[in-house]
Amino acid sequence: MRVGALEAGGTKMVCAIVEAEGQQWNILEKVSIPTTTPEETLPRLADFFRNKGIQALGIACFGPVDLHRDSPTYGYITTTPKPGWTWCDVAGFFGRELGVPIGFDTDVNGSLLGEATFGCARGLENSIYITIGTGIGAGIMSNGRLLHGMLHPEAGHLTLKRGVGDEDFACVCPYHDSCFEGLAAGPSIEKRYGKPGAELTERTEVWELEAYYIAQALLAYIMILSPEKIILGGGVMHQESLFPLIRKEVRRQLGGYLNTKELEHMDEYIVPASLGDDQGILGACCLAMEVC
Ligand code: ADP
Ligand code: ZN
Repeated sequence: MRVGALEAGGTKMVCAIVEAEGQQWNILEKVSIPTTTPEETLPRLADFFRNKGIQALGIACFGPVDLHRDSPTYGYITTTPKPGWTWCDVAGFFGRELGVPIGFDTDVNGSLLGEATFGCARGLENSIYITIGTGIGAGIMSNGRLLHGMLHPEAGHLTLKRGVGDEDFACVCPYHDSCFEGLAAGPSIEKRYGKPGAELTERTEVWELEAYYIAQALLAYIMILSPEKIILGGGVMHQESLFPLIRKEVRRQLGGYLNTKELEHMDEYIVPASLGDDQGILGACCLAMEVC
């Protein structure tokens, strides 16, 4: 079937036309449009999807978003600090403009769904996708279903214990004084060391502290959600030296408490995203397939 896929980010919108069947897919066309105001951006996106013969559109959207189907604001971006986008009816706009069914979920649930359908989490009922970029967010699959709950998980705002020497760093999150996103997302690295992560590759202490924070968060996810695989994506994870440091630190913080076949093979348990940069767009494709 032919569907439209939209990965709606705060910086850019990636849209694609995808031909997909079962576990096979083919991206026929893909473009990226900068995210400016809704008035300017949304019509440009609708123009891209029009007259392409799509059966449905899937949207993996930056948030917070309303995912409750019986809510009057279902499919809206809700309380985002991004200027102009507060209470923006994204799903409704495309439904009206394109006249096709709309699948809608968070960007991170989208990426996880892409990995669970086409990528490294295929066949697993319990997995997590964490993006560590400008912010931190997690998509969670539990017993074969994407977790939504009261709102949707906001696992980037987990409270963490400070690393040695980092006690006085002013957490970047405006809401919390010691949360995962405020201590470990890209902007916090830049604030702590005065330059962006990409320019700090040789500084081992940067990545040891980063791995300490990421491992603390993973430990909480492991203990509560019992995932069979953990996928790490986002700009900060381009720092490949982080993977072995994180695996080692997770093992250390576990303290030998758990013994599972997954944890025995850490290299296959904590892994990078497997679909290049297409996990988000392919997840949006899956969201569309679900409503066809
Ligand atoms: P977004 O979260 O806005 O979608 P990204 O996932 O690309 O975008 O994340 C951007 C963040 O990742 C920036 O804070 C940037 O400094 C950081 N980043 C990008 N590349 C690297 C790298 N090689 N090492 C460490 N941090 C990086
Ligand atoms: Zn926070």
